[in-house]
Amino acid sequence: MSKYLVNKLELRGSYIKIAFIAVMALSMVMINLPSNSKTVAPSPPFDQWLQSLKAEAISNGVRKIIVDQALDGTRPLPRIIELDRSQPEFTLTLGSYFSKAITPKRIAKGQEMLEKHKALLRQVYEKFGVQPRFIVAFWGLESNFGQYTGVFPVVKALVTLSYDRRRSSFFREQLLAVLQLIDKGHFPIDVKGSWAGAMGNHQFIPTTYRDFAVDFDGDGIVDLWNSLPDIFASAANYLARAGWQRDQTWGREVRLSGPFDVALTGLQIQKPLREWDSLGVRRVDGRKLPNVMIDGASLLLPAGYKGPKFLVYQNYRTTMIWNRSRLYALAVGHLSDRLLGKPAIQADLGDIHPLARSTVIEIQEKLNKAGFEAGEPDGRVGPITRRAIRRYQVRHGLPPDGFPNSQLINHLNAK
Ligand code: CA
Repeated sequence: MSKYLVNKLELRGSYIKIAFIAVMALSMVMINLPSNSKTVAPSPPFDQWLQSLKAEAISNGVRKIIVDQALDGTRPLPRIIELDRSQPEFTLTLGSYFSKAITPKRIAKGQEMLEKHKALLRQVYEKFGVQPRFIVAFWGLESNFGQYTGVFPVVKALVTLSYDRRRSSFFREQLLAVLQLIDKGHFPIDVKGSWAGAMGNHQFIPTTYRDFAVDFDGDGIVDLWNSLPDIFASAANYLARAGWQRDQTWGREVRLSGPFDVALTGLQIQKPLREWDSLGVRRVDGRKLPNVMIDGASLLLPAGYKGPKFLVYQNYRTTMIWNRSRLYALAVGHLSDRLLGKPAIQADLGDIHPLARSTVIEIQEKLNKAGFEAGEPDGRVGPITRRAIRRYQVRHGLPPDGFPNSQLINHLNAK
């Protein structure tokens, strides 16, 4: 285990990568942080700022020669700011997300990788307790099994983002972590990653790399690009530290036998498996739920009450520490099932077209106008918007699933 490993899980939880920008590389993850305008001071001139950064890096133990080589002559890159400011045009739906994330090609490749690296994955499981199919599923979604690990110069990108005022303290911490990792010889100064600094086969942000990545092949460095032992073990160590359960799966698709109170859905409502069973939740093939002790299961309707229904367990929640997107966590779980040859989702996935941002903004504005408090209209369907939709649905006698479907849009338009 790396000597740099420090438990910073609590910290990590607050700035997790969230929304996928989709299409080409599902690995290009944006980092979404609440901006805290109160603490933002005007930026000093760049050269002055760079000197203070260099001093801080040196006081954090990075050798001066590394600091000079990495930072001398760097300037902010306009392209990085442009990417940071760009808003996704669409909100992905379950159908649109799964049609890109869970392709036959990815399943086949994942199965091939699972077989090919069986012995190594077994060793990793024995040490960290994360089942091979999950490690491979994360790997497939993050970088298409190492195919896309990012082309942006990480140091320069993070210099740009930490000098920029929007989320400077977060990115400054990331930059200092990268410099520490370079200083220890884990990767070179011109290391490449995503525009926001995520690196390697599992797209770790620098503090995650520093705090959770491990050297599993014993060569003294943690190489998340070329060493599969390091890559697999680092993902497993991070998940283990985030609470992964070695003897549980992530959840399952279910169906409901008979009438069901939609208000019992959502991650906040947690019940033991046997209680869900008594409420009429069944396996997707209609059989009773397995008779095992699983507490804290939640029922999710990610495509509304007409779409697929999932009962999710602790490992689903742990996946959301890795990436806060609910659809991402479902995709990891489902892909891991498919790698074992289990069937596709049985229920209709619903619309495979993403929701236009402008449509979501319109829904938010209408909900606000009608007094349902959907928050600042930002085109994203987050918890506040879902809660407002639920309230609206309850008020108007619609199934309160918090899902922005065409029925809701029509209903709002008719008002
Ligand atoms: Ca190594």
